[in-house]
Amino acid sequence: MIKVEQKLFQNRYRVDAGRSHITIKQPELCANACIEQQCTTCCPAGCYIAEGNGKVVLITDGCLECGTCRIICDEHRNVEWDWPRGGFGVLFKFG
Ligand code: SF4
Repeated sequence: MIKVEQKLFQNRYRVDAGRSHITIKQPELCANACIEQQCTTCCPAGCYIAEGNGKVVLITDGCLECGTCRIICDEHRNVEWDWPRGGFGVLFKFG
């Protein structure tokens, strides 16, 4: 049986350098007011990383554009989310 990690590896990404399609609006809010930091466990691509000092780092290069982080951050609404520009983002090899 093929593992999720193996499936994700099949995807291809065209990174829009310097123009992330998702941003954390107020990074200090993640560190100071968000206890659960659900984004760090719910993102299937692991784009949100808890640094251990309360800070959350977002690297969108492998983003699957699923929208989970946009919804899961419902209490603080601290995620600015948009689609990547045309020609950039994920390319699903197997649909
Ligand atoms: Fe992760 Fe989905 Fe948010 Fe992309 S849209 S950063 S894959 S949760």
